[in-house]
Amino acid sequence: MSAQKTVLEENSLFQKSQKTGLEYVLRLDPDRLLAPCRIAAGKRPKAATYGGWESMQIQGHSLGHYMSALSAFVNSTGNAQAKEKLDYVVSELKEIQCADGYIGGVPSVPFDTAFTGNFEVDRFSLAKYWVPWYSVHKIYAGLIDAYTLTQNKDALEIVKKMADWAVNGTANMTEEQFQKMLTCEHGGMCKVFADLYGITKDEKYLKMAERFIHQEIVKPAMKQSDRLQGFHANTQIPKFIGLAKLYELTGKTEYRTAVEFFFDTVTKKRSYAIGGNSIGEHFGPEYQEILGRDTCETCNTYNMLELSEYIFRWNKNADAADYYETALYNHILASQEPVTGAKTYFVSTLPGFYKVYGSFENAFWCCTGTGMENPARYNRFIAKDYDGTIYINLFIPSAITTEDGWKIAIETKFPYEQSAQIKILYEGKNPRSLKIRTPLWTEDARTADGYELKSEKISAGETYSVNLPMNLHTRRTRDRSGNFSILYGPLVLAADMGKRAMPNDTVDNQLVYMNSPAQKISAITADPLTPQGWIEVLDKENLTFATKESAAENGTSYTLKPFYDIHHTRYSVYFNALNPAEDEREAKYESITVDFVEPGRQQSEVEHRFKNEATEMGYIPEVDRSYRKIMSGEGFISYRMKFDNTNKNKIVLTTYGKDAGTIKVYIDDTELSSVTLAGTDGEKLTDTQIEVPAKIIKEKAKSRRTAIMNVKLICEQSQSPRILELRVTK
Ligand SMILES: [Zn+2]
Repeated sequence: MSAQKTVLEENSLFQKSQKTGLEYVLRLDPDRLLAPCRIAAGKRPKAATYGGWESMQIQGHSLGHYMSALSAFVNSTGNAQAKEKLDYVVSELKEIQCADGYIGGVPSVPFDTAFTGNFEVDRFSLAKYWVPWYSVHKIYAGLIDAYTLTQNKDALEIVKKMADWAVNGTANMTEEQFQKMLTCEHGGMCKVFADLYGITKDEKYLKMAERFIHQEIVKPAMKQSDRLQGFHANTQIPKFIGLAKLYELTGKTEYRTAVEFFFDTVTKKRSYAIGGNSIGEHFGPEYQEILGRDTCETCNTYNMLELSEYIFRWNKNADAADYYETALYNHILASQEPVTGAKTYFVSTLPGFYKVYGSFENAFWCCTGTGMENPARYNRFIAKDYDGTIYINLFIPSAITTEDGWKIAIETKFPYEQSAQIKILYEGKNPRSLKIRTPLWTEDARTADGYELKSEKISAGETYSVNLPMNLHTRRTRDRSGNFSILYGPLVLAADMGKRAMPNDTVDNQLVYMNSPAQKISAITADPLTPQGWIEVLDKENLTFATKESAAENGTSYTLKPFYDIHHTRYSVYFNALNPAEDEREAKYESITVDFVEPGRQQSEVEHRFKNEATEMGYIPEVDRSYRKIMSGEGFISYRMKFDNTNKNKIVLTTYGKDAGTIKVYIDDTELSSVTLAGTDGEKLTDTQIEVPAKIIKEKAKSRRTAIMNVKLICEQSQSPRILELRVTK
């Protein structure tokens, strides 16, 4: 942890939420949170355990989150009560710790069984217990945070003993048995041992961290292969945080490759508009944004933000900051009830549903735990001080002090104001340059790294101004559903759909409303690409907007607010665009398509044994398509495709209407056609049909009904038109 300090400005958007979060944590009774650990250690509890998950087999996990939250609050706010409570918990744990070092909310039974090498395991149970490593991981992490963020030395001694218990316990397990044990969700066990190695430099902890690398998940990522579909999302993210820490400690590049690949695939292919991921806690197919009540588990985004910090530190590129800003404003800030500080588990993306918050006494969910920590961490990424440069990442009003004494203020009311002043208040010991992120949503030109170099050498007394022009814009999903979200600058706007037939939304069990009705939202008939034309400002100061009646199919006007301001009401963060032209095209192709490839989409390409040389991929929002284009004049793309021997066949090459150029089409190394596109079709799909001689198919298929042949596209110019679809039709 760097000694940089960032303090939020009083009464600002994030500071108010941070204060609510601190009050929530201070209301919790440490003796009640400690009770499961006392009972497991054979001691009398000083108070009754809390309800819900704290009375189930995962009990004790909240104590770890509580320690991490208190530590982070001490670090970010200096709150004395938080420090007092934290020190009390650490002193209690010192007394509770077993002679062998074990501390947990359940007895060490499941671990003792696992350590013999002869144990039962599945994804969520180990030796018949519910995720025991996951649960104790939180206690490890809490103690490490107490040491690194508040210098509590006892915490380090306790966690070292606890770590030695695990090192000794697993000493006789074979690698095969160890990996089998990792089948069951185990939280950030790799990360805590990596942290301990970082702190102590004791090799036994490094060895242990590397034993905790879960090969089943990490190996494909090292080969940049996405096998995440169907896996429990929040189980996987901490594995990559551990790996990220291990890369920093060991310099092993395969770790970094895996982490960067994972981060990219989750943020670019598996995230919703608000920056969250998962449905029913699992990763679905890539590019799908299936709307549901149980999307966007809040823990996942807590973990993705932590992972973003590593990605940023390695690349010093605004990509990580763009994601961070989206997820922080639209998921994390939006996930805490503003008065009580209650936390969400899932954040629904289903139109007309509502947020469901946890009750204070009985909802000790995973997301309640990470939810305790979130507000304490709002300050973490605002500014970063690396290698002689101060990076301003987020426009959150705050005061930053570097380790060597620079003091910088970010003064702004953003997002309620469209500019910020960066003031250099005190000079530190060593010189610094200043870089400020140019957000993507300003539509201003960006440098290669997305940061503007404001000064090579800053001095006290200087002020740097930043313009932050916010516009209404939309983000379309990439799943052809016609769904889109409306944003103002980085803020996702939600339609406030009223409270009709809303139940009490503060609950013990996160699943109680999973079959409760949602309210339908009208389709938008206006053009989703030009929201400025059909959304009006109602209240500029509170960022309230309204859609025009003429924009919706049923003539309703919807009030739009930043999603973080939506509480205790039905809402929608997704809208559906009626698109008759697209529907017609789909219908036309549906009955005649023999085979179909979507260039730039991994699953589709893998299924068609994709080969390429010198190509680039990307996404065109105007037509909601991924693409691949051929570069350098020597590149090619090829796919294995199916042809129908009972019919005449055509190849349909779909390109972007604005792109000009020539593409040569080959089948099994025979040139079939040279397609020249004028690029005059505008922001639309251009379909070019190429006849496939029956003779070619017949020769290949012989007496079979189908033939499989290589379709190869070549471009002899410096770059080809962007190729969006490739289809074989009857
Ligand atoms: Zn959770």
